[in-house]
Amino acid sequence: MALVGRTLTVECPCPGTPHESDAVEYRRVLPLAGGMAAITAMRDATLGAFGKFDNLRLAEHLFPVYLAHAIDAWTFTGEDGKPLALDAADAALPFETKYLIADAADDLFGEEVTRPLALMIEKGLRAGLTARSTSRKKPSGRSPRSRSARSSPKSSATETSEPLIA
Ligand SMILES: [Zn+2]
Repeated sequence: MALVGRTLTVECPCPGTPHESDAVEYRRVLPLAGGMAAITAMRDATLGAFGKFDNLRLAEHLFPVYLAHAIDAWTFTGEDGKPLALDAADAALPFETKYLIADAADDLFGEEVTRPLALMIEKGLRAGLTARSTSRKKPSGRSPRSRSARSSPKSSATETSEPLIA
């Protein structure tokens, strides 16, 4: 029940409990498809939830990605005693085992997949803040027609000074 290097040891969940324990070997690197799927999963988990990041919701999206992409090999066997195919895990392994596998994968790859997402969020927030502060500077109570002049920052100053000149 421990992650040592890239190998996780778990209690044997195989039919008939033929092993003393089972070993899960993680990939040395996360495949690009897995990394992108992880980023998408994290985005889905955080959409509309800025300020209250929900770890459980993140795991709901992210853990299946780990199960599908992070594993290189394992010792699990199926009903027939033959090695369990990697893509057959979700239907064959008990939830607890899958959870432990994904949780350990998060220890190995979590930071790697979080870093690019953090950069994206930072960029997005910066862009959002810029847009918001710009719109806040706009004078209120202007007619809808004057919105077409928005692209030129000088236009509002011209508009307000016109009555003074007249
Ligand atoms: Zn086993």
